[in-house]
Amino acid sequence: MIRFEAVTKKYDDGTTAVDHLDLTAPTGKITVLVGPSGCGKTTSLRMINRMITPTSGTVLIDDQDTASLPAAKLRRGIGYVIQHAGLFPHRTIVDNIATVPVLNGVSRRQARTQALELMERVGLSPDFAKRYPAQLSGGQQQRVGVARALAADPPVMLMDEPFSAVDPVVRDQLQDEFLRLQAELGKTIVFVTHDIDEAIKLGDQIAVLRVGGTLAQLASPHELLTR
Ligand code: ADP
Ligand code: ADP
Repeated sequence: MIRFEAVTKKYDDGTTAVDHLDLTAPTGKITVLVGPSGCGKTTSLRMINRMITPTSGTVLIDDQDTASLPAAKLRRGIGYVIQHAGLFPHRTIVDNIATVPVLNGVSRRQARTQALELMERVGLSPDFAKRYPAQLSGGQQQRVGVARALAADPPVMLMDEPFSAVDPVVRDQLQDEFLRLQAELGKTIVFVTHDIDEAIKLGDQIAVLRVGGTLAQLASPHELLTR
C-alpha cells in the first residue's frame, strides 16, 4: 500500500504542484491519477520513488516512510514506465530488458533467458530480441518498456502516460494486454493519464486532481461513469 499523507510539493520558482495530498493506493490494485495538464500527476508519481522530494508531508510504502530508505534500495522495488519508453538506444531489446537484473547480480545468460520470457508475456515476438529500439514501432517499444520494468519483479509499478504516444488502435491493445497481465501479476500500480476514458478503463480507483495539486474526487470507475 502506498500512502500520501498531507504531501505538498512547492518548486523553487514558487509553483505549488501538489497541495496537501492525502491518498492511498491499495496493494495489488491500479490507482489512476487523472486530471488536466499541470495538475501535479507526474510530480505526485515521482515523489513515490523520490525522483522528486516532497516539500512537506510523508509518502509511505507499506507503512514505511520512503524518506527513511536509501533511494537505490527504494527504487529496487519500484518499476517505472514512461511515455516514450526511455529505452537505451544502443542496446538490443533483450539487453534493454536484462540490464537491471544483470546490475543486480543475475548472470547475463539467466537474465537473457528471463528477458525472452518477459517478451512473450508482453506480446513481443522473440524475433525482436536482437533488434535495437529504433527498429521497433512505438507500441512495440512501449511493450519493451513494460517488460524492462517487470524484469526486476518489483511489487510497485509507476506508469506515466505509458500508452499515450501510440495510435488509438494500438493503445487499445496495449491497455487490454496490460489488464490481462495485471490480473495475473497483481502489482500495486499508480498510473498517470490525462485521458478520463483510459482512467475508467484501467483504474480500480481513480484520483481526479485539479490544477493547484489538490484532490477533486476519489472514485470507482463506476461512480465516474454514472455521474
Ligand atoms: P501534470 O503531470 O499533471 O501535467 P506536473 O506534475 O508535471 O503536472 O506539474 C505540476 C505543476 O508544477 C505545473 O504547474 C508545472 O508547470 C509545475 N512544474 C513541474 N515541474 C516543475 C519544475 N521542475 N519546476 C517548476 N515548476 C514545475
Ligand atoms: P529527473 O530525470 O526527473 O531529473 P532524477 O535526476 O532525480 O530525475 O532521477 C535520477 C535518474 O534515476 C533519472 O535518470 C531517472 O530516470 C532514474 N530513475 C529514478 N527512479 C527510477 C526508477 N524507479 N527506476 C528506474 N530509473 C529511475
